[in-house]
Amino acid sequence: MQNPYQNAMKQLDKVAKVKNFNDSFIARLRQPDRDIRISIPVQMDDKSLKIFEGYRVEYNNALGPYKGGIRYHHDTEINEVKALAFWMTLKCAVANIPMGGGKGGITVEPRNLSKGELERLSREWVRSLSDILGPRKDVPAPDVNTTPEIMTWMTDEYAKITGDKTRATFTGKPIEKGGSEGRGPATGLGGFYVFNALRKDLKLPEKCKVAIQGFGNVGSNAAEIFAEHGHKIIAVSDSKSAIFNKDGLDLKKVQAHKKSTGALKDFPDAKNITNEELLELPCDLLVPAAFENVITEQNARKIKVKAILELANGPVTPEADEILFKKGIPVIPDVLANSGGVTVSYFEWEQNLKNEHWTEKEVFKKLKPMMEDASKKIFEESKKSRTSLRMGAFILALERIQKKML
Ligand code: GLU
Repeated sequence: MQNPYQNAMKQLDKVAKVKNFNDSFIARLRQPDRDIRISIPVQMDDKSLKIFEGYRVEYNNALGPYKGGIRYHHDTEINEVKALAFWMTLKCAVANIPMGGGKGGITVEPRNLSKGELERLSREWVRSLSDILGPRKDVPAPDVNTTPEIMTWMTDEYAKITGDKTRATFTGKPIEKGGSEGRGPATGLGGFYVFNALRKDLKLPEKCKVAIQGFGNVGSNAAEIFAEHGHKIIAVSDSKSAIFNKDGLDLKKVQAHKKSTGALKDFPDAKNITNEELLELPCDLLVPAAFENVITEQNARKIKVKAILELANGPVTPEADEILFKKGIPVIPDVLANSGGVTVSYFEWEQNLKNEHWTEKEVFKKLKPMMEDASKKIFEESKKSRTSLRMGAFILALERIQKKML
């Protein structure tokens, strides 16, 4: 397994070669401001005590309070959280929101916990970290396997400990608990706005054939949004398998099948394929929407798409990036492609602090031009510096952060 933090640092080294940044600034960005590991004791339903390992990495707050989600996964470990916190720093800068970068997590398989155990675990994570969190300090949010309900428990726990009633310390809450309209589909929708802004520049057809890897909140929302706009979703996958129909999948039926059987596999109107086969399908757009390190030097040469839209964080390794760049396959990078999520999180934070509630229409009206503006600037920068879109995005972000820090 590749170390995502090393990969993130390879990207940083690369951008420092493409563009001239201040050496001390780059050296500072090679380490987070702080990385915190905690042990979290939880009383299980059978009264036994289990200790979990948890994390919060505060990477950089030059542009504003640390911002970034909390991941619950059995593979989550400190290097992954550090990489994700680094990418959050750049993502907030790309999105041009007044937020820094952070990330948190717990090494846990949440499916093995009862609801009560999950609640106690989530509240204990907040209890251990309450000193460093806060609307003006560090503002977490959902990530893989963390839900609006978990954000409610965390907000409540934080209010109990500190007396803070703004509800602005966690974003991604349910709407009736201070959440923003549109936060659910925001990452997928933002990705769609970015795709649309770049489609012609990247010479992609008006109606694309799309393969989506990962069918969680981000992947399933993106599938629906692309389909609504006349694109054809020819393959989707979950952690166990993938399904493929060259004429396009009926997503409502796919959702119903997944709900009733618990999996995508054996969907009647499609062929079962493997996750690896999905990545190698010939189509217009490949959308990795699950985890890091899925396109590597092992499979990058076999990729046959016209472009890749990274809705996951870190799905393409630096080695694969080089191969794809040489093959002329543009990769729309995570820090741009999935920045719609954190942008609407920022809207949520602002609404909480001002005690306002914006309509979904208002939220999307603010989101769209921000995504378009970032897309255009990054495309121009990558053309000007004759580099990839990822390096274009890194340059834009680092210039904004450097200006604040020096
Ligand atoms: N976890 C999401 C991400 O990776 C959203 C973070 C947020 O809303 O703060 O961008």
